[in-house]
Amino acid sequence: MPDHAPGTVEQQVILTVEAGTTCTTAVERAGLPTSGPDAVVVVRATDGTLKDLTWVPEVDTDVEAVPMSSPDGLSVLRHSAAHVLAQAVQDLFPEAKLGIGPPIENGFYYDFGVEVPFDPDDIERIEKRMREIVKAGQRFQRRVFPSGDAARTELAAEPYKLELIDDKSGVDADQLMEIGEGELTIYDNVDRKTGATCWSDLCRGPHLPSTKLIYASKLLRNAAAYWRGSEKNPQLQRIYGTAWPTKDALQAHLHRLEEAARRDHRRIGEALELFTFSKEVGKGLPLWLPNGTIVRDELEQWARTTERRLGYQRVVTPHITREDLYYLSGHLPYYADDLYAPIDIEGEKYYLKPMNCPHHHMVFKARPRSYRELPFRLAEYGTVYRFERSGQLLGLMRARGFTQNDAHIYCTHAQAKDEFLAVMRLHDHYYRALGITDFYMVLALRDPDNKDKYHDDEAMWTEAERLTREAMEESGIPYVEEVGGAAHYGPKVDFIIRSATGREFAASTNQVDLYTPERFGLSYRGASGAEEPVVVIHQAPLGSHERFVAYLTEHFAGAFPVWLAPEQAVVIPVMPEMDDYARAVNDRLVAADIRSHADLSDARLAAKVRTAVTRKVPLVVVVGRREADDGTVTVRDRSGTEQTMPLDAFVDRALDLIATKSLDGAGHLIPEAT
Ligand SMILES: [Zn+2]
Ligand SMILES: [Zn+2]
Repeated sequence: MPDHAPGTVEQQVILTVEAGTTCTTAVERAGLPTSGPDAVVVVRATDGTLKDLTWVPEVDTDVEAVPMSSPDGLSVLRHSAAHVLAQAVQDLFPEAKLGIGPPIENGFYYDFGVEVPFDPDDIERIEKRMREIVKAGQRFQRRVFPSGDAARTELAAEPYKLELIDDKSGVDADQLMEIGEGELTIYDNVDRKTGATCWSDLCRGPHLPSTKLIYASKLLRNAAAYWRGSEKNPQLQRIYGTAWPTKDALQAHLHRLEEAARRDHRRIGEALELFTFSKEVGKGLPLWLPNGTIVRDELEQWARTTERRLGYQRVVTPHITREDLYYLSGHLPYYADDLYAPIDIEGEKYYLKPMNCPHHHMVFKARPRSYRELPFRLAEYGTVYRFERSGQLLGLMRARGFTQNDAHIYCTHAQAKDEFLAVMRLHDHYYRALGITDFYMVLALRDPDNKDKYHDDEAMWTEAERLTREAMEESGIPYVEEVGGAAHYGPKVDFIIRSATGREFAASTNQVDLYTPERFGLSYRGASGAEEPVVVIHQAPLGSHERFVAYLTEHFAGAFPVWLAPEQAVVIPVMPEMDDYARAVNDRLVAADIRSHADLSDARLAAKVRTAVTRKVPLVVVVGRREADDGTVTVRDRSGTEQTMPLDAFVDRALDLIATKSLDGAGHLIPEAT
């Protein structure tokens, strides 16, 4: 997920490092902190690269001070902690071979080749050894190998590192800390007092100046991982950890992790019977159970009503399609890896549909269009299939087949900005109604240094960026820009929503597309009678059912608002004599279209209430003799508050909660730590 939410802009501090002196000297002279959570840990040179504080420029050089608490500073902290982890492991398990150890979001990992997987006792011992290394305040010292052979000789006992040295040319430098462009370097961990080298690791750096700056770290778990992510390679043991500038920040993170585990959609999905997977059906292909189907149907109903009011027309398109359409769209041959193998039908190749766009374009093209028909808006909850490696699958979050809240707008150039703005407003409308207040947009632009990946019509790029940016500005929704993330055919806008636990999800991708109309020949007859190209706007505010329901399950911790709850009410008689009245109350609720059932089992009252609470039923209706005599019900809501009211009043209230999509009692607010 992007680590660049808006609102984290820091004050840039520029230092001048005098020729022949270290950056540390410049930092100290400037009076900047060298310890504590705001310590300057590395510097950024003018070419954008990060350098150790021990770096000595040959000429007077301006650099930017990078504090530990900044995003880059945190990565350096976490990667340095990964070194300490590896050192601790080799101290305790000298035969362990080193894999890779990069920083990741909120933490780090290191992969080890070992005969026996680590057990919890091992992890505890490793953590203890890490604390000793941190306390010793070892310095990270950079050393350049004079040659590749020198590196191979020194690392002869590390087969994985040797492999990295040898396929250096083919490595994506962003992914690997071990080696970068240019010279091969190794970092020695040096004893502060004796100057002796305690341990070394092939790495391009940079690192903290000293291990003692690792104030708060913790190992989290270990898991098996294939070397370089391929099942054909040996299996290694990966240890995950986290590191923060303060103990408080670490505690807050650990609390968020606990909360995230409690809210995990796979766990809740099983408990509430929302969805399941079956070995026979296949990996990454969810089966929606009746309860989950209710949630998805409610969302879909909401989207249909909203789209109809906004002038969208619904269409339905097939799941398999001739290869010709994908050559036209450009999915073939370039994105063949994302598609499943074709199906042969009477000598023609058909593919499972990876996206709905080309089909909608063909709907637009079904007959000539006039300017009077524009904007022409098409919507479909369309099911698509994309290849995902089995290792990448994650419950509903990442599945092989999913159904998207997809829509396309075909409009004139003059209409495009307002139409795109309306798309952003629609996102805002949906998200706020669901209590999602923490969201922003990412404008993914083309990388000007890597133009091969994109179409080469300069004027079109400029125009698409201008239209997109103008609409984004006017929306007032915060956004950040990301160079290099654009699609082949134009810039795109992702909506990133944060869950109650602070986790970020890319919910939907949207685009102003000037390129596709040319490829597909999508045009309309203008007022003058001439054919003009349309502008296509792609949008999917509610993403896919799979991802969005997974997100909402975590967002609400399974306690969906009444309108989305699979079971909205349960009627519980206090004793068997009240069964008839319970049945009558339930019939009345069901007749009013409220999803209700009566619990007439043999269980005791307290147990029935507990079951209802565990199943996250928002309205628990308890009826006894008094209620039966008075024609009332006693309603217990999720906060545990009980209220007795006439049955009619309760029905009205429940219908009102549903109609207004009330968030009363929904679990989207993170409970205070107890
Ligand atoms: Zn390193
Ligand atoms: Zn599209």
